[in-house]
Amino acid sequence: MSEWTLSRRAARMNPSVLRELLKLTERPGIISFAGGLPSPQTFPVTAFAHACQSVLERDGPLALQYAASEGFTPLREWVAHHLPWSVDPAQVLITTGSQQGLDLVGKVLIDTGSRVLVETPTYLGALQAFAPMEPEIHSVSSDEEGLLPDGMATHANAARFLYVLPNFQNPTGRTLSESRREALVQTCQSLNLPLVEDNPYGDLWFEKPPPAPLAARHPEGVIYLGSFSKVLAPGLRLGYVVAPKTVYPKLLQAKQAADLHSPSFNQRMVYEVLKDGFLEQHVPSIRALYRHQCTVMLDALAQAMEGLDVSWNSPDGGMFLWARLPEGMDAVDLLPRAIEKGVAFVPGAAFFANEVDSRALRLSFVTASEDQIRVGIQALAQTIRETQKEMAAC
Ligand code: PMP
Repeated sequence: MSEWTLSRRAARMNPSVLRELLKLTERPGIISFAGGLPSPQTFPVTAFAHACQSVLERDGPLALQYAASEGFTPLREWVAHHLPWSVDPAQVLITTGSQQGLDLVGKVLIDTGSRVLVETPTYLGALQAFAPMEPEIHSVSSDEEGLLPDGMATHANAARFLYVLPNFQNPTGRTLSESRREALVQTCQSLNLPLVEDNPYGDLWFEKPPPAPLAARHPEGVIYLGSFSKVLAPGLRLGYVVAPKTVYPKLLQAKQAADLHSPSFNQRMVYEVLKDGFLEQHVPSIRALYRHQCTVMLDALAQAMEGLDVSWNSPDGGMFLWARLPEGMDAVDLLPRAIEKGVAFVPGAAFFANEVDSRALRLSFVTASEDQIRVGIQALAQTIRETQKEMAAC
């Protein structure tokens, strides 16, 4: 019998208690507000059926062959031309989802013990991507409008980068205001602190587009990550990194080592779908659906939580809202009780790198139907009421 000695990195990949708990949310019959899954109603199946046929008929052998690690040139050009600042297609690296972008950034920028700054709370998948590289994660103070630039100087000392999600953040749904963006970029410039900007939700605004990305204000100081998962379909596993010319070659080498290149067939199909302005009609329909679903959840919360000390925000776009339980209640403890009543959410604890807000929870409003949202929020309120009664009785 061979004995396998695992790397220190592997030890950093432990499944958390919370991950195990979240498996329960996938039980049949549970109304889940837990997953970060886009609505399958929005997936453009017919457009892909046509694109698939065209790509195979026209360029079949090329689409099925190995290809350049940088990505399919017309798709890189499309990305460069559709970003709201001047981007050279040579700076665009097509990745296997933006999740791979986070992994590459971690590999290229983090050594054991390197300081990395994140928002409070932040995207769990980024913490997972960075963790194997053994960073020292520092959470920068944030409020309902996002990161507080004033708090950065105390943490910034030799930090490798600040990871930030300015638009409809996962998990909170919050958006960084115009003035905060300006202040943040100025602070980072003065501290010589590079930024990693993750923007998978920016196109999913409800009433008006969010302010310009950080990368548009300071292109040499920002690695920008984008994704086709939320505007087309996540199963394609396609995203992109826009990197300053100084770090691009290293990200490219890391990409080569990871998977040679993202699937050429998918890249060509996505380009085929996008090339004649498809997103201009398609994305407004996603926005309208998500805006409606969000309103249904906000109305359901207002009705069901009447008289309870529960608060929540009202996001301007994206897929999530962030709620807070009554004082003394812990979202991790509440989850199994909620699952018993047929509803699931993600306890906020999952998204904190350092100090945890145990009362917080994330609710996705995009995957459940309108009826499920109403029933699920009622069940959640019922769980909170019963828990509160038990707490009072103790
Ligand atoms: N960043 C954030 C903030 C996300 O929420 C997600 C998806 N959950 C990703 C990156 C990864 O998305 P993908 O790999 O599908 O592009």
